[in-house]
Amino acid sequence: MQADDSKKMEGMVAIVTGASRGLGRAIAKEFAAEGAKVVVSARRSSPTGLPGTAVETAEQIREAGGEAMALTCDVSDEEQVVAMVSQTINMYGQIDVLVNNAGVMVLGETLLDIDPEKWDQSVAANLRGPYLCSRSVLPWMIGQGRGSIINLGSRMGNDHAQGGGVLYSATKAAVHMFSFCLADEVREHNIAVNILSPGGLKTEGSAAIPWTQRDWEQRVEPEAVGSSAVYLALQDASTFTGQLVLRAEFGETWGT
Ligand code: NAP
Repeated sequence: MQADDSKKMEGMVAIVTGASRGLGRAIAKEFAAEGAKVVVSARRSSPTGLPGTAVETAEQIREAGGEAMALTCDVSDEEQVVAMVSQTINMYGQIDVLVNNAGVMVLGETLLDIDPEKWDQSVAANLRGPYLCSRSVLPWMIGQGRGSIINLGSRMGNDHAQGGGVLYSATKAAVHMFSFCLADEVREHNIAVNILSPGGLKTEGSAAIPWTQRDWEQRVEPEAVGSSAVYLALQDASTFTGQLVLRAEFGETWGT
């Protein structure tokens, strides 16, 4: 079969974490539609009770003519992350893009509402996850001499007036600074690290949080993020790195 040059990600391999539903699923499907081979990962079954599995996302991609592999991975578990990366290499032989999308949103809860277990789970998914996944993927990207890491940030991570609260805002602020520092660290290896702030979305995760009802009508479907994620996936350190970008400004202040 001949490669389709009109597809922007033809020949690329991307890992998208937290791709059982919501934004991760939308990004995975967009990457596959652009010709990428996509590794869709999530936990085997979600403790949240929310619908969707990585297997279903991979099936949807294949039904649409794309290439995908579903893998079980809790991003806070080092062994599972290492296994996800080695299975990706065994199957596809390279890793061009990592999207650190898996995350837990705790919104509208005060410090006194949040018990230590919830705190630790959020920090583990939102911060330890990107750390472990980047740590496992980077040796391959360094060997390839290029790559792109996209971390999901949030307007809650740099503006406390948004009302994200002590836990979610703190983890996303940490993700922002993690990304800026990592971008500097890996620049010499031609690896881009950027933060995509998607704005309010109508995902399954958001719908389950009463707090999001206050701006539900202004929220957009996760598919709206697809083209900005593809743009970031195509970058390396020589083109675009170390940036915090807003999905709503894609094509206006960046990505033009
Ligand atoms: P969502 O619908 O709740 O989906 C979250 C995804 O993360 C699910 O696939 C879930 O998989 C996965 N996940 C959670 N903890 C995990 C762990 N420890 N290991 C592996 N996977 C894990 O959320 P979303 O709205 O799509 O959000 C996706 C990302 O965008 C998050 O980082 C979020 O902070 C960010 N974001 C969202 C919004 C918004 O308005 N929704 C705005 C700004 C930023 P399981 O099936 O395993 O539970």
